[in-house]
Amino acid sequence: KSARGNFHERARIGIMGGTFDPIHNGHLVAASEVAWVYDLDEVIFVPTGRPVFKQGKNVTNEEDRYLMTVIATAANPQFSVSRVDIDRPGITYTIDTLRDIRALRPDADLFFITGADALAEIMKWKDADAMWNIAHFVGVTRPGYVMNPQKFGVPDKAVDVIEIPALAISSTDIRRRSYEGEPVWYLVPDGVVQYISKHGLYSHADEQNS
Ligand code: ATP
Ligand code: MG
Repeated sequence: KSARGNFHERARIGIMGGTFDPIHNGHLVAASEVAWVYDLDEVIFVPTGRPVFKQGKNVTNEEDRYLMTVIATAANPQFSVSRVDIDRPGITYTIDTLRDIRALRPDADLFFITGADALAEIMKWKDADAMWNIAHFVGVTRPGYVMNPQKFGVPDKAVDVIEIPALAISSTDIRRRSYEGEPVWYLVPDGVVQYISKHGLYSHADEQNS
């Protein structure tokens, strides 16, 4: 059953890509809101392997990012987590994510969910033109960023922009808070707070990188 309780002949699947270092409530609200507005049957969270825009930065070990994403999404029957990007060698490009999910789910309509800041990068993505044919793109508002896909040359029909409840949360700020010993409760799910503390993530200031 879909977010609105319907049955669809063709499955409607959201894809939420991200570094998730760590996953936070902004990601979860974005996925939940798009699932509702588009009446999706599922949202697949896809933690990146090596993110193309974060090369040279200190990104947390992929298994930790994957497990935090699993913990954060476990209670929602419509949410799941895919390892396609983590298991694919090399740098992560969204076109490869889309092709892998398409191959796994050939009969589904795909909706790629992205925040305002990531949408601004969209035209720099490898094979951008091929992406529009595989998935519909849904840009969600994010505090601090202006969304104007046309300005970046994204074709009109390929992307929608929807307004979602504003959560001024970023992984960068969660990491900074952790390094400084400030609380991250209620910015990330409880299980993620506990995972960060149990594994000592974001605790060594010398590893801090943005
Ligand atoms: P970082 O600060 O490390 O870049 P982030 O908070 O931006 O982390 P990402 O993993 O880079 O998180 O983002 C994954 C996707 O989620 C991107 O499309 C991003 O735009 C979107 N996103 C992240 N935070 C929010 C938020 N608070 N509201 C809406 N969308 C968000
Ligand atoms: Mg980001």
